[in-house]
Amino acid sequence: MKSIVEVMKERTSFSFEVFPPKAEQPMEPLLECLNELYKFDPDFISCTYGAGGSNAGRNSEICKAIADSGHRAVTHFTCIGNTKDKVKAELQAYLDNGVDHILALRGDLPAGWEGTRGDFNYANELVAYIREQFGDKFTIAMAGDPEKHIQCPTFEEDIAHLKMKQDAGADYIMTQLCFDIEAFKRWYDSIRKAGITLPVDVGVMPVLNKDATIRMALSMNGCSIPRDLAEVISKHYNDPEGFKAAGIEYTVHQLYQFIGMGVDGIHLYALNKSAAVSEILTKSGLRAKKD
Ligand code: FAD
Repeated sequence: MKSIVEVMKERTSFSFEVFPPKAEQPMEPLLECLNELYKFDPDFISCTYGAGGSNAGRNSEICKAIADSGHRAVTHFTCIGNTKDKVKAELQAYLDNGVDHILALRGDLPAGWEGTRGDFNYANELVAYIREQFGDKFTIAMAGDPEKHIQCPTFEEDIAHLKMKQDAGADYIMTQLCFDIEAFKRWYDSIRKAGITLPVDVGVMPVLNKDATIRMALSMNGCSIPRDLAEVISKHYNDPEGFKAAGIEYTVHQLYQFIGMGVDGIHLYALNKSAAVSEILTKSGLRAKKD
């Protein structure tokens, strides 16, 4: 199978992101969701990796299931609590399971933690270590924050840190959600001016629920809510169904704005919700569903 970077050289890639169920919850709903997502013939499906390794075992189980289904799996992987030896052993296990694409992250620090409590402080160190230990066996993605990472004091410093990940050997960028297309364009121009040449795979967060949209933008990631999204929120403030319908229209519009900019890939955060994803893709006409 081609690497995702080779696919992005030929056309705009299209992919999904899912997350593992909590330890006490059954796996079947996610496996059913994946079966629905496969029908859109995604170029890859990525699976998140819990901070502190809380559901890391389930991540590898899910990545293996995706790879076993014949699809390209991308595992997220963080520095949180991870020693060099543990990283080496876990990454070899991914390779043995047919998973050779990885999103190398620092990870969100659990509440009260100062650092990662592992051998790597930042994602660039993890990227360098994966290259050192595994050569070109992995295609490595790195995270990019179009409105800067919430903990970084300035936009310029954050872009300099992004460049360090490119220099350490990453292959492409997967971005954090960004509802503000103008902010995204400013970041895109800035990273190119800073010498970051890697393909950009844009993370698109579906707008489905008012409270979750506000929480993910403001409190979790420090992203802005542009005027057109603020209007959707105020118009449907106490109307969840109306909000969802308008939010799906908003997401479809965002997909077209990013594709119109010529980005290298679209990565839809599927939120384990295949019905909503189906609706977005059917409305956008971006990907046909094969039954
Ligand atoms: P880094 O690149 O290490 O950056 C972290 C912060 O440190 C930034 O503020 C950066 O500017 C700064 N920095 C970087 N290098 C240096 C340096 N050398 N010196 C000083 N400062 C530096 N989190 C999870 O826990 N699990 C997931 O599965 C997950 N999936 C994600 C998927 C995507 C597409 C994205 C965009 C993010 C995801 N995250 C996930 C969140 C991510 O882990 C957090 O945003 C985390 O806080 C930073 O990760 P990073 O890899 O960008 O870190």
